[in-house]
Amino acid sequence: MKKGLIALAAVAAAVLAAVLLYDGVAAKEAQQTFFAMDTVCSLTLTGRDAPAAAEEIPAQVTALETGLFSRQAESSAVAQLNRSGGGTVSAQLAQVLSETREISEKSGGALDCTLGGVSDLWDFSGEPHIPQAAQLQAALAHTGYQKLRLSGNTVTYDDSAAVLDLGAVGKGAALDAVREALQDKRLRSGIVSLGGSILLLGRRTFTVGIKDPAGNAGDCLATMRLSDCCISTSGSYERFFEENGERYHHILDPATGRPVQNGLVNVTIVAQSGLVSDALSTACFVLGVEDGAALAADCGCEAVFVAENGDVTVTDGLRAALKVTNPDYRIVN
Ligand code: AMP
Ligand code: MG
Repeated sequence: MKKGLIALAAVAAAVLAAVLLYDGVAAKEAQQTFFAMDTVCSLTLTGRDAPAAAEEIPAQVTALETGLFSRQAESSAVAQLNRSGGGTVSAQLAQVLSETREISEKSGGALDCTLGGVSDLWDFSGEPHIPQAAQLQAALAHTGYQKLRLSGNTVTYDDSAAVLDLGAVGKGAALDAVREALQDKRLRSGIVSLGGSILLLGRRTFTVGIKDPAGNAGDCLATMRLSDCCISTSGSYERFFEENGERYHHILDPATGRPVQNGLVNVTIVAQSGLVSDALSTACFVLGVEDGAALAADCGCEAVFVAENGDVTVTDGLRAALKVTNPDYRIVN
């Protein structure tokens, strides 16, 4: 081959390699970061359909928020239910309400999706403050998951002043919807994170961290090697304010209407269903280690409980996957 041709062939080969590489990367991995459901969300997908699928997810999650779950968005089905004291809902929302109610029941009311009136008083997303005891008592009188009745797709409230709040389950339920939408796409693996709830797709094993509440942003106290599941964490450091030297956080004890104070700082649940992982992370935080672990077992899920003093309790099925990485924390069971 002549010198000039050799050079041309080399250039062509280099260009081809670059195109293949570019094509490979572009076709195989796509990322998005977006804000929805009052939190920062992110996703990474790999596979042939990754770019198109990644483009669709932010709009899907926002539509679920504004169309179904958000209590604050006037147009949402939950806001409409709260305004009218009941009505007919979509099969999707009926399913979410039915599963939420079932877990509320199993948790003995530790999960209570009718706490909206009490949450409003604390106003964690707006101007947080300690409500007056009399106001709390008045709002508590209108709570209780039993007041929410579901017959097919028809919802009724026993108490017209009850306020439905799906804050404890919405992100997990959204992950279930995202997984369903991705089912027919050609994807090899994926990770979708909606604040404290994460969906892992495919056979790939991911390392997922449990945040260190005492550390800086991004610091973890432990990591877990997991695949093909949903993981939700409820933490007392996620939304809180301080008044008179006391810390008040957003996970409420339905018995008192006040932030749970049981020595826990976070609870992480690993489940197949996003809704179940999210519902249980809140419920198990309220219940504490012993009753929380029993509820997780009852629901066929794994759990990690982290206490303020650094004690970590992990259920048997998760022990091998969990690695405590910060020496201030230790597994105690
Ligand atoms: P999560 O971060 O999943 O634990 O959900 C916390 C959110 O759920 C709060 O911001 C409230 O809107 C709501 N919430 C707080 N406590 C409870 C509870 N005991 N049962 C149901 N929802 C709750
Ligand atoms: Mg939750």
